[in-house]
Amino acid sequence: MIRPLVAVLVAAVSFGVANGYTVDAEIPAGNIVVKSIEGDVVKLKQDFRDTPGHWIYWAFRVRGAAGRTLTFDFGDSAAVGSRGAAVSEDHGGHWRWSDFERDDPRDPVTGDHASYTTFTWKFGPDDNEVWFSQTFPYSQSDWEAFLAAHAADYGRVFVTNTLCLSKKGRPVEAGRFGRIDGKAKYRMFVTSRHHCAETTATFVMEGLLSAVFGDDELGRWMRENIEIRAVPFVDKDGVVDGDQGKNRRPYDHCRDYNDDKPSIHPEIKAIREMLEKWAKESGTPSVVMDLHCPWLRGSWLKKDDSNEYIYAVGIKDVEPQQRRICEILERVQESGSGFLASDYYAEGRGWNTGANYKAGSTLTQWAIRTWPDAPLVVCFEIPFANARRMTLMPPTFRLFGRDIALALKAYLEP
Ligand SMILES: [Zn+2]
Repeated sequence: MIRPLVAVLVAAVSFGVANGYTVDAEIPAGNIVVKSIEGDVVKLKQDFRDTPGHWIYWAFRVRGAAGRTLTFDFGDSAAVGSRGAAVSEDHGGHWRWSDFERDDPRDPVTGDHASYTTFTWKFGPDDNEVWFSQTFPYSQSDWEAFLAAHAADYGRVFVTNTLCLSKKGRPVEAGRFGRIDGKAKYRMFVTSRHHCAETTATFVMEGLLSAVFGDDELGRWMRENIEIRAVPFVDKDGVVDGDQGKNRRPYDHCRDYNDDKPSIHPEIKAIREMLEKWAKESGTPSVVMDLHCPWLRGSWLKKDDSNEYIYAVGIKDVEPQQRRICEILERVQESGSGFLASDYYAEGRGWNTGANYKAGSTLTQWAIRTWPDAPLVVCFEIPFANARRMTLMPPTFRLFGRDIALALKAYLEP
């Protein structure tokens, strides 16, 4: 009887057990390495997996800490965003930012969570299991809930299909929305999660796609005029497994659109084939849009520090069209996310230089090379937690997606 008990204790310690509470990554898209637990201080870091160097994603749960106040300390590994941690007390059903309920120190000028590496949480007397994450999760179940809410329109306003199987054999979701009878005047392709941990981009995509169901002028126009093909989880395995996804060895999904070699990720190979076939059948795509998130956080007060506002990533060859969609978006936006056309991150500015694309080229760069006459090719970066002083949460991300739809209508039919 003694031997199995010893084995259980050894296994448990490796997941971080002390003082009666446990810390582990056994949640959807879980990701954490527990270094030590001493009293009420948990020392941990992100599980980088096949990402060389540092990246920012983590998600874990704490069980058995009811009534305690714990400090989570990532040491020298930047991990905590501008509004603290995303917290769920109902197994991922609802999430909120920890800073609304904690008095962790704030930056006196920006109001951001001051520490890049620590946050605290006070567990209520009945909080026996609490989940924490760097960002608001958006996973397959969220996508399925979105589709289920519109099930009555299936076959009429949207259909779903499988783009391909991932490397690990998982079906990669795809869908067609809007005018799906093949007679659409405009054809759009939109993606998120080329970098799997960039969850807030998928809330924006959902908001954009939701617009096709609207009983309003925008919804009617979209159902009459545009077919949108969407791939919400390009790096499907990373989304499910909770990988960083960024800078994967030898290169990640976002750098896999190269003319001189075949794509190494099955999703990218399938996207290229699908788009080329669609263009052959129906003509040049009207819009190709890729949605991303920037780095963890920053300061909008500093020159070229772009991590805390929504912006388009500039490509010089199509700068006029990209600036035009940004100007329209600033004018028509209703979400309150404070989008500014002047935040356009022109090629050559800050990090947006050739050095950033040495590993390979992106969906938007490939689309411009393949269809130089496409009316609009653009990538937006969606921050994790705020746009300047405004806190961002899923309802606002979705509304910004609708802002994009409003802007597209005005762009395509001025
Ligand atoms: Zn990205």
